[in-house]
Amino acid sequence: MSETIEIPERSGTAFKLAKGDVLVVIDPKGQQVSDLLAFNASDLGEVISSGRTFDYAERIYLTTGDRLFSNRSNVMLTIVDDSVGRHDFLLTPCSYDTFRLCYENEPPHRGCFGNLAAALEPYGVEPDHIPSAFNCFMNVPVDGETGKLQVLPPLSKAGDRIAFRAEIDLIVGLTACSAKDSNGGSFKPIHYRIERP
Ligand SMILES: [Zn+2]
Repeated sequence: MSETIEIPERSGTAFKLAKGDVLVVIDPKGQQVSDLLAFNASDLGEVISSGRTFDYAERIYLTTGDRLFSNRSNVMLTIVDDSVGRHDFLLTPCSYDTFRLCYENEPPHRGCFGNLAAALEPYGVEPDHIPSAFNCFMNVPVDGETGKLQVLPPLSKAGDRIAFRAEIDLIVGLTACSAKDSNGGSFKPIHYRIERP
C-alpha cells in the first residue's frame, strides 16, 4: 500500500495506475469534490466515457459494483468501495470559463480543467481530449420530470472515501475541485492512496 498523498486545495495531479491496483480517494475534511479522469496508458485515444457508462448502467448515480467504461466500451475502472453513495458523472471539469460565466464576482481560476490539463501534459494528453470527469463526492440531484439539475454541497463527511480498481493500465488525473458551489462554499484538500494487492 502506498502512503496517503495530499492534493492541496484547488490543484490536481496525474499518475499511472496499473491493472489490479486500487485507487482510494478520500475526502479528509468533508464536502470536497475530486474530479477523476482515466486514459488507457498504452493508447491515449481511449478515455473514460460518461455516456457509455450511463448507457450500460441504466442509471446516472453510480456506486459500489458499478463499472466505468471507456469510449470503446471497455471497462476501465470498477467501484469497489463507496462510503457516500452520491457522485456526479454529468458535469465537465470546472474551468476558466466556468468562473467567467458562473462566478462573475470572483477572481477567475483555471479550475479542475486547467489543473488536469497541466498534470496530464507530461503524459501526452492534449487539453481538447479531456472528457467529462467522474466527479467523486459531487452532489448533483436531477429532477426526474424536467431534467433540471442542481449543484448542492457534497454528502461526504470527513474521512469518507470511494475506491476504484483499475481493469487495465491507466493514466489517471485527479483534483481537489476549485468551484465554490460544488464544495459547500470552501476549498479543501483531497487525499488518495494506491493499494497494490
Ligand atoms: Zn472542479
